[in-house]
Amino acid sequence: MLSRAEYLTARTEAATLLRSAGIVLTKTEEEGMDVADFGLGRLRVEGAEIVRWFDTEQISARAIVQFPGQTEPEHWHIATPGRRAKEETLRVLSGAVYLYVPGESSLRLGRVPEGKEDCYTARREVLLRPGDQFTIEPNTRHWFQAGEEGAVMLTLSTRASDELDRFTDPEVVRKTLIAG
Ligand code: ZN
Repeated sequence: MLSRAEYLTARTEAATLLRSAGIVLTKTEEEGMDVADFGLGRLRVEGAEIVRWFDTEQISARAIVQFPGQTEPEHWHIATPGRRAKEETLRVLSGAVYLYVPGESSLRLGRVPEGKEDCYTARREVLLRPGDQFTIEPNTRHWFQAGEEGAVMLTLSTRASDELDRFTDPEVVRKTLIAG
């Protein structure tokens, strides 16, 4: 759970990073931003700030901000009746992103959050700098972490149903709860 103050500070900080990356962000979009701590209660270590631009029947567009060293927990997207699992492309606009996908371990730049070895199993590292992009296949475990300046990225995908995402860490609760 996030405190109201923590939520507001993170939202303002994320909006500043988005605007510095050249993103036009409306007031409504800023106010509707999802500050996700994944129910783990340590936002700056494991978390993400997400702006949802749209979800149509077929596609979704979002921007994700990560604070320095912040990690989006390992997850994968599943198929649902009548819909294939989400395929997504990450494109970095600012900062550096260390993306991890299954494959031979090459983890070097990022680090697995302390005490969470079992919850981060994908260890093939892909370094994404501004202008780099990577497509994550459906049903593939992945996680990512920002470098020391934080990062802003776009995620463009087939229709997202965030509440259906599966996480390796059994303690993750996807819906953000804010105290007060
Ligand atoms: Zn994903």
